[in-house]
Amino acid sequence: RLRPELDDLRARVSGTVVGEHDPGYDEARAVWNGMIDRRPWAVVRAAGVEDVAPTIGYAREHALDLAVRGGGHNVAGTSSVDGGVVLDLGGLHAVSVDPAAGTVRVEAGATLAHVDAATEPHGLVVPVGVVSGTGIAGLTLGGGVGWLTRPYGLAADNLVSVELVTADGQRITAGDTAHPDLFWALHGGGGNFGVVTSFTFRARPLGPRVFAGNFLYRQDRWPQAWAAMERWTRDLPDEMTAISTSLTPPPVAGLGDEPLLLVGFAWASADHAAGEAHAERLRALAPPDEEELGAVRWVEWQSAFDALFPDGVRAYWRNTSFDRLDAAVADVLVRRASEQTWTGTAFDVHHLGGAFGRVPEEATPFPNRAARFWLNVYGFWSDPADDDARTAFVRGLATDMEPFTTGGQYVNFQGAEPAGHRGFDPRRVFGAAKYRRLVDVKRRYDPGNLFHVNHNIPPG
Ligand code: FAD
Repeated sequence: RLRPELDDLRARVSGTVVGEHDPGYDEARAVWNGMIDRRPWAVVRAAGVEDVAPTIGYAREHALDLAVRGGGHNVAGTSSVDGGVVLDLGGLHAVSVDPAAGTVRVEAGATLAHVDAATEPHGLVVPVGVVSGTGIAGLTLGGGVGWLTRPYGLAADNLVSVELVTADGQRITAGDTAHPDLFWALHGGGGNFGVVTSFTFRARPLGPRVFAGNFLYRQDRWPQAWAAMERWTRDLPDEMTAISTSLTPPPVAGLGDEPLLLVGFAWASADHAAGEAHAERLRALAPPDEEELGAVRWVEWQSAFDALFPDGVRAYWRNTSFDRLDAAVADVLVRRASEQTWTGTAFDVHHLGGAFGRVPEEATPFPNRAARFWLNVYGFWSDPADDDARTAFVRGLATDMEPFTTGGQYVNFQGAEPAGHRGFDPRRVFGAAKYRRLVDVKRRYDPGNLFHVNHNIPPG
């Protein structure tokens, strides 16, 4: 094993290499989750796709751990590593739209904001997530749920092809016909198989304005609101996606300091009146205390929740699925919601089904297409003294929901588990059959497990 030298690495790439004694090291090593405090040996800020293979090669030759970074938003902090190399693709964020082909090519360092800004002038969208600073790379490789999951499925369901550099430095393109097994694995199997340099997505017509809004419920109406969600979501058309958020709002929102339930929805059709009619059905089932709805620019809606998730906040998340919003589940949600404070904790209930649910289970590694709801429980706070209480809340709600869980977990919502707690278990997350298939692909494309700083699928 050769002793690694920063200058050797610098000589191989055209991007900037930031080491421990260089100015800007703390900024270069920081990821979104402020609890992650890792000290890489070097951070390579790729200046172009040409920097990827040499960085991979350098890490391999020197047996250095390699972390790959897109938007840096992984809550488990998997885009940084102590003593190793971080390959940061954040500078590569070009997005090109081909309206005639109906496709969008996105470089792997783009955030969701880059994608939405580029597609808006064409009246097109790519289904992505709901906070604009999130990276397209980690989001898509894990799945990608958001306001368009019911009409168009996951971000990954909209992939046409993926360009990547493999562990042995080859540049390849995976699609339905080229490397189809690898392409399958990239639909939820994460960053295990290579460094993605770009994604090509199918674009969907939408906007620039959509019908969207929030119904706000104060505590005494929560049981009625959850019962209404159970009824309302039973026969909703695919165009409507609802995400219900329980939180205590930040003081700047001017909504008081009590916990609230916000039922957010977006209607993916130009026929806004039809969307209004569905909102009216929900209003009749559970009249909100306050509401805000109407035509809104898609790019604004896509950043409407950004302020809740500033860079550097401390964070721990868990996720589970369930199928019924009956009184037993609503009891858990109501009881736990009343414990929430700002800053602190929150949870989202994503209503699924629609196009997401019609993708055959075996068509992608993404688990549990039959799930009606995902529950995403998250803590976000700034004082380290709150770490234990916030993580205990998140874990507590996840545990309370275990009796109702229908299986599978979403890797992108899994926080880092402290020592002594059960960590990421790919068999449990993907199920035994898909896990075996993922291991098989891993063996072929990364037999040495070079890409292990992630939600890892070991080659054997
Ligand atoms: P990074 O931390 O940069 O990367 C995460 C992992 O992805 C890396 O460890 C690596 O394994 C892999 N990776 C990244 N880039 C590459 C690459 N180029 N090639 C190969 N592997 C790569 N998810 C949703 O589905 N919907 C949401 O609405 C949503 N909202 C979120 C909001 C916030 C505030 C946060 C923090 C997260 C949210 N997530 C959401 C979860 C998000 O999808 C994951 O955190 C995801 O990992 C973020 O991707 P990233 O590129 O920003 O992360």
